Amino acid sequence: MVNVLLMVTAELENLTGLQPQEGCDDPNFPYYFKMKCTNCGEVSQKETCVMLSETVPLPNGRGTTNLVQKCKFCSREGTVTMVPGRGRPLMLEMGQSGKYAPLMVFDCRGLEPVDFSFGQGWKAESTTGTTFEDIDLSEGEFADYCDVGQVPVIVTGLRVKPGGYEDWKYVRRYVWRYGRYIY
Ligand SMILES: [Zn+2]
Repeated sequence: MVNVLLMVTAELENLTGLQPQEGCDDPNFPYYFKMKCTNCGEVSQKETCVMLSETVPLPNGRGTTNLVQKCKFCSREGTVTMVPGRGRPLMLEMGQSGKYAPLMVFDCRGLEPVDFSFGQGWKAESTTGTTFEDIDLSEGEFADYCDVGQVPVIVTGLRVKPGGYEDWKYVRRYVWRYGRYIY
């Protein structure tokens, strides 16, 4: 079992709080990945979508998971189970200083999610408080105009990485300090 922490960053202009439409634990926010088989190293040709609201029974019959996928090369079956409650929005100042925000934790057995793709269904707030919904990041960027602040609002330079030891420590401390899961 490997827990993969998906971290995201971007350059935000006059925008803050970039996150899935209904918050980091949005039940219908799709995460698109290619899956690498940890048994033989084969990476799936097609992207796989996982989302919190879509569950399937675990192969052993005990509980549910968000994905069961068989490797086309070695036929080994793997699972990916999403672990909500650890995500945080990407704030303007984090993007400016090159910091990453934790988005979602994936409990992976036999599979490793690689090549995360940005899609639709994001939201963010302009620095003057206007909410922009249904932001489409599938082209790797977003640009609009905030009428209230009379400024352009822009997302560029989207990047992802798996969280490292320091990130996990930070996520744990954050959760502990506030005594509840962050949405
Ligand atoms: Zn395989």
